[in-house]
Amino acid sequence: MTETHPIMTARVTRSILLSEKTKHIEFEILDKPKFDFIAGQFISVREPKGDGKFVTRAYSIASDPTNDHRFDLCLNRVENGFMSNYLCDREVGEEVHVHGPHGHFVLHDDLKDTIFISTGTGVAPFRSMARWLFQHPERYQGHEFWVLYGTRYEEDIYYREEFEQMAREHSNFHYVCTLSRCGETWTGCKGYVQDHLREILKANPGREMQTYICGLNEMVSGVRNVLKDEFGWGRKQINFERYD
Ligand SMILES: Cc1cc2nc3c(=O)[nH]c(=O)nc-3n(C[C@H](O)[C@H](O)[C@H](O)COP(=O)(O)OP(=O)(O)OC[C@H]3O[C@@H](n4cnc5c(N)ncnc54)[C@H](O)[C@@H]3O)c2cc1C
Repeated sequence: MTETHPIMTARVTRSILLSEKTKHIEFEILDKPKFDFIAGQFISVREPKGDGKFVTRAYSIASDPTNDHRFDLCLNRVENGFMSNYLCDREVGEEVHVHGPHGHFVLHDDLKDTIFISTGTGVAPFRSMARWLFQHPERYQGHEFWVLYGTRYEEDIYYREEFEQMAREHSNFHYVCTLSRCGETWTGCKGYVQDHLREILKANPGREMQTYICGLNEMVSGVRNVLKDEFGWGRKQINFERYD
């Protein structure tokens, strides 16, 4: 590993089941008192696979930058995947090896009205960005923000309480959660994120906007196509991070 990104040891301090296959895990870095990163960046986890080889996988940091050595991840177990299951199996007190932060999926300095679009654990960088933004009025005042989140079932809505709380506290923060396979009791939005993206854009004509998209490639491509083909958005307005 290069000297710019030395390997660090991170210890699990808390592990919470978010749904059947997904965990929120909190870590503390043991090697240094402060871990600097920008909201939206990812960390790489590097572990031996058992055959003498190492596996390295990227994970978006789900917490906002604080003045210390901690970070959170939101992890989905992938069937037959090594690292996702390895991390989800870690107990409090166990250690893993990481390097970073990495990545350029961060908020631009010239902030505009922003739609954050994700599915599944793709919500992780937006938890980080939203928490960072709403820490100080000078970061969020004068703009509108939407967190548009899609998943299949109600039980897979991660960090729902936190986002709903943010929406209650800030009239310029909008939380739109849509289910593609909802039960009969669900009274919220239904369908795919693309459907509700169209609604948001049609309800807000003439605004200077940008979007950040995060999740699996199929969703990211679908959303980019809607923005480019149906609304004529240019590249600079569309920022994305693909998990696969
Ligand atoms: C920048 C970046 C940030 C990421 N952040 C997160 C995050 O915050 N949370 C998170 O859970 N994952 C995240 N990922 C995905 C993560 O890096 C791994 O790809 C994922 O955990 C699978 O790794 P694995 O070793 O368990 O499976 P692998 O052994 O790599 O893959 C096993 C099988 O699953 C398929 N597969 C790979 N990735 C996925 C996936 N994400 N979903 C479904 N199938 C998949 C592969 O095609 C393969 O067939 C991120 C990826 C990138 C590039």
